[in-house]
Amino acid sequence: MQMRESSKGYSGERTMAEVELVFLGTGGGRFATITQKRRTGGIRFLSKDLNMHLDPGPGALIYSLNMRLDPQKITAVLVSHGHPDHYTNAEVLIEAMTKGMLKKRGILAAPHSVLLGNNECGPSISKYHQQMPEKVIEIKPGVVFHIGDTKVIATEARHTDPDTVGFRFETPDVGDIGYTSDTEFFEGIGKAYEGVRLLLLCVMRPSGNPWKGHMTPDDAIKIVEEARPEMAVATHFGMRMIFSGPYRETKLIEKKTGVPTLAASDGMRIRVGEEIRVMRADRKQRVLEDFLRSSRKK
Ligand SMILES: [Zn+2]
Ligand SMILES: [Zn+2]
Repeated sequence: MQMRESSKGYSGERTMAEVELVFLGTGGGRFATITQKRRTGGIRFLSKDLNMHLDPGPGALIYSLNMRLDPQKITAVLVSHGHPDHYTNAEVLIEAMTKGMLKKRGILAAPHSVLLGNNECGPSISKYHQQMPEKVIEIKPGVVFHIGDTKVIATEARHTDPDTVGFRFETPDVGDIGYTSDTEFFEGIGKAYEGVRLLLLCVMRPSGNPWKGHMTPDDAIKIVEEARPEMAVATHFGMRMIFSGPYRETKLIEKKTGVPTLAASDGMRIRVGEEIRVMRADRKQRVLEDFLRSSRKK
């Protein structure tokens, strides 16, 4: 296992074989979202064959533009469930993906709640927007589909939207990446992510402060112990987690499991290649924040 963390900003180009994850948000839950204590734009996956946006919450469009990730290059939008911190910007990203709704293009993959609605939530994406992707895939645990050369398996999650899914991405070049989405711990959840190189966990609550349908570091420990990834990343922090300190909370996972574990930060990039490299955003990436701050002064 090799891991390198750099705080010097974004050095160098992605190599042909690498998959890069860009964190356009690391916040989750109502109060982190409405205060934007942490951004809630979801995660962009980029490789030579992949330009996919996962869970486009509020800010997905604006931070894509801000970080110069052209949303018109997206070829797939994935929504794990019907809560606003995961779906709010899905429609505008579909508009970008379909060249302003002029070209049938790309893939939309989402569970029943998001596409059609269930008793708890949704539908979250209009019929108009569901007509334009080339392919719309209704996902539930066990459904397998492809985005370019990446095989995607929808995994089980247990959350307040009963249709919530997680994902396992199997890339031909750099191995597998898992994403739990919002879920509580249940027996066997780690099995779906066994052997992934990188496991992203939505750890919304701090240790000792559980909430039904969500994960604390104590739950994450059990999942990481079962899955044994090369590296784990905690993200999707709620307000209590933010106040408690995601770095400190995440270290609990690393200490207990021995698996290198990071707390995600806004603008962070992870490149998965032969090794896993982590690059934190530097101040230059905060252009939009500065703009918002200066416009408020007027
Ligand atoms: Zn959430
Ligand atoms: Zn949720």
